[in-house]
Amino acid sequence: MNTMTTIIPKHALKTGEEFKASLDDGRQLWVNGAKVAKVMDEPALAAGVELMASMFDDQFTEEYAEATTVLDKKSGLVTGRSWQVPETKEEMIGRRMMMEYTSRKTVGTFGRPPDLGPTLAVGILAHLHLFKDFKSAFPECQPDFVENVQRYVEFGRMNSITCAESLTGPQNDRSSPLAQAASLLRVKRVEKDGVYISGAKSVGSIAAQTNEIFFSNLAYPGTPAEAAIWGAVPINSDGIKLVSREMLSNPGADPFDHPLGYKGEEADQLVIFKDVFVPKDRIFNLGNEHVSAISGKATLFAHYHVLTRLKVKSEVFVACAKMVTEVLGTGQIPGVRAMLAEIIEYNRTLEAFILAAEANAEINESGVMCPDVMMITTGRLYAIRNYPHIIHVLQEMCGQGLVMRFGKAAFENPDIGPDLAELLPGKGVTGMQKEKLMNFIWDLTCSSLAGRVALFENVNASPAPRMRERLVAEFDTSAMVADLKKIAELD
Ligand SMILES: Cc1cc2nc3c(=O)[nH]c(=O)nc-3n(C[C@H](O)[C@H](O)[C@H](O)COP(=O)(O)OP(=O)(O)OC[C@H]3O[C@@H](n4cnc5c(N)ncnc54)[C@H](O)[C@@H]3O)c2cc1C
Repeated sequence: MNTMTTIIPKHALKTGEEFKASLDDGRQLWVNGAKVAKVMDEPALAAGVELMASMFDDQFTEEYAEATTVLDKKSGLVTGRSWQVPETKEEMIGRRMMMEYTSRKTVGTFGRPPDLGPTLAVGILAHLHLFKDFKSAFPECQPDFVENVQRYVEFGRMNSITCAESLTGPQNDRSSPLAQAASLLRVKRVEKDGVYISGAKSVGSIAAQTNEIFFSNLAYPGTPAEAAIWGAVPINSDGIKLVSREMLSNPGADPFDHPLGYKGEEADQLVIFKDVFVPKDRIFNLGNEHVSAISGKATLFAHYHVLTRLKVKSEVFVACAKMVTEVLGTGQIPGVRAMLAEIIEYNRTLEAFILAAEANAEINESGVMCPDVMMITTGRLYAIRNYPHIIHVLQEMCGQGLVMRFGKAAFENPDIGPDLAELLPGKGVTGMQKEKLMNFIWDLTCSSLAGRVALFENVNASPAPRMRERLVAEFDTSAMVADLKKIAELD
């Protein structure tokens, strides 16, 4: 625990140790085809869990208490911001502080830090006015969706729960009807007290490193009633198997060699459900395919998170680019200044989107302060379209330094270390100092981990074509068209 600990008398927070202990629950996990007894037995997952645990400990520090915690008005307890439902602009910006905090803490390598999963339940809670008239399509089991969502958010808040969220199904033949896919998660048996579900969810980022999974199926024409199921269950529920992708980070590496990679990763899992019981009070939709139509709205806070993370990352890119010009002495070269300007432009534009989304925020019918979804969607599109270019520009500014890295052991080797020290200094810095910056930028932009993160950024919250479709379908053009008709006398 951090030495700057502050005493919080009444709280519902977990410490890092408590969080780690909560993951030791008999979950069924496979990595590289082998069963892993405990998540902490896999080094890359364990390092990622340690990073998450440090976020729990940070809640108790003066430096991060405001960004990560909030007083719950109902209980009078200090709770984590992850489950906060903002009712004012101040509270909404408080949530953004938490998003910025987790994004900085992981340098954006975690798209699903502890405050992301809860945004799905919070997003539904924020749209209960659209949800309240839905009833279960199965007479045998009649959950109260509204009450269940409210209770789940309360449960998450009071128990400092972390959760994965998976809306996507595994990749199959997209030209064949969805209903035929064996992978489609669906209800197999309905009972009075709940339902049994089978199928799979993918790509359940961070599922092996969290307490719960929030699942739903996205809306596609032809989705059968039994596949219109939304809910949340503990990740150690009977019948859940987590099959992890290969690990991509560098746990155990010297922090000098891999300043980001040594911190591990959030890994993605295929989450297989075989006759998993979902208790009635954990069901948020049962059989209403039309509920899926509000999934775009329910993901509002998740998408606010995505844009905020990309903005924070752009700050890191600016800082890296600036430091590169300093250690290489390239800061006065016009072409290099133009490259730095491009990265600053990217960062300023992303911040502008966030500020605009917040400036246009409105209280909705459920009494929740919602940022402007069109600004967030447009900002996300701009961010992911330009992301590969910005990475490319930053890499170009580094030149050979990004490849000619030798590692701490080489600098400390008595035979070659003195040569490296003599031959490799930068502007006002030693060869080692220069290399450490390049090592960081390598991990951030070139490593296997960076490759996964770049792919993640491109599609994790729906690929660009779907976002464009959303702009066309949802952006209200009527005032612009009316103006044009008036100006151009087109009536
Ligand atoms: C690293 C990583 C982590 C992820 N984490 C999560 C997570 O935690 N939770 C979660 O729910 N999802 C997660 N995703 C999944 C993400 O939501 C999906 O990848 C995304 O929705 C695209 O679906 P798909 O991959 O099944 O693509 P497919 O449906 O197989 O399609 C492949 C490509 O074809 C194009 N395409 C397909 N259909 C259309 C269409 N109708 N219109 C236009 N273009 C189309 C798109 O370019 C798409 O990328 C993650 C993805 C990655 C790569």
